[in-house]
Amino acid sequence: MPPVMKTTGLKTYYFISRGVVKAVDNVSLELEPGYSLGLAGESGCGKSTFGFSLINLVPPPGKIVDGSILIDGTEIVGMPESELRKKVRWKKVSMIFQGAMNVLNPVYKIGYQMAEPLLYHEEGITKKEAMQKVHEYLELVGLTPAVADMYPHELSGGMKQRVVIATALLTEPKLLIADEPTTALDVIVQAQIINLLKKLKRQLNLSILIISHDLSVISEIADHLAIMYAGKIVEYGTSDKVYLEPKHPYTKALLGALPRLRVKQEKLEFIPGVPPDLLAPPPGCRFHPRCKYRFEPCDKEEPELIEVEPGQWVACHLYTRR
Ligand code: SF4
Repeated sequence: MPPVMKTTGLKTYYFISRGVVKAVDNVSLELEPGYSLGLAGESGCGKSTFGFSLINLVPPPGKIVDGSILIDGTEIVGMPESELRKKVRWKKVSMIFQGAMNVLNPVYKIGYQMAEPLLYHEEGITKKEAMQKVHEYLELVGLTPAVADMYPHELSGGMKQRVVIATALLTEPKLLIADEPTTALDVIVQAQIINLLKKLKRQLNLSILIISHDLSVISEIADHLAIMYAGKIVEYGTSDKVYLEPKHPYTKALLGALPRLRVKQEKLEFIPGVPPDLLAPPPGCRFHPRCKYRFEPCDKEEPELIEVEPGQWVACHLYTRR
C-alpha cells in the first residue's frame, strides 16, 4: 500500500527581516496507512512547521521552498488553495493544532461548531444528518451526545480535547496530525487522551502523526519515532529501537533527561547549551556545539542520515567515521 504521507527533501523556511530561518531543512519522512509516527524534539526545532507544511498552511512569512509532499498519493506542494480546501484539508488530512481546545468559540454550542466543517466539506449533507454524525463521533470519543447542546465553558479540559479530536475526525480523513495533543492537561487526562488516540487508530485504521516535545508521551502511541534537531531529522526508527536503544547523542541526551520506568537510570541528565539560532545554524553537525562526543569532522561536515541497524537511521559521524 502506498504511504498516506510522504515528504521528500522538504524545505520550509521563514523569510524575516534579519534573514532566512531554515525551520524544516531537507526532511524526508513517510507514514504507512494505519500506523503512527511520533515527531519529537525541543521547542523551536521545526516540528510544528513540518506539521503545518503537511496541510500547506505555513503561516507567513513562512514558505515551502523545495521538496515534495504526497498526501494519500496526491502532491500538495504547488496545489492551488481552492483545491487544497476542497480535496485535501479535512478530507484527506486533519490537524489538531497546539492548544486547540482553546479555539472553541465560547458563544456557540459544541454541536453547532462541530457540524460546521461537515456542512462545508460534505456535499448534500443536511443539518439533521450532520448533527447525527456529530452525536455518533461524540460517542466514539467517549462523550455523550448531550455534549452537543453544551457550551465550551461547561466542559473540562479533557472533554474539550475529546471534542476537538472528534471534530477533526468527522470528515473521515486518512491522516490525523496531532500537535502537542496532551500539553496543558494533567497526567491522568494525558493518559486518557493517548489511550483514546490508540483506540481510534485501531478502530478507524487511522494514520497519526503525533508531534510533541515529550518523548515518553509519544513513545506510548507511535509505531515509529523521528527525532528532529534544528530543522533536521537526526534519528528515525521503530519506537522500541529509538526509545530503548537510542543511537544519536541528541536522542540519548533527550531520553537521559526524562525519568523512565523501563530503563535503569542513575540520575537525570541535562543537555548543555541552548538550541541553535536557525538564522545561522552551526556548520557541520548542527548538534556539535552541545555534543560531548564531537570529534574532528563534526564542525565541518554534515552527517547523512544512514541506516545503522535494520530499522534504525542515524545522522552522526560516530557511525561512519569511527
Ligand atoms: Fe556529536 Fe559529531 Fe555525532 Fe554530531 S556528528 S552528534 S557532533 S558525534
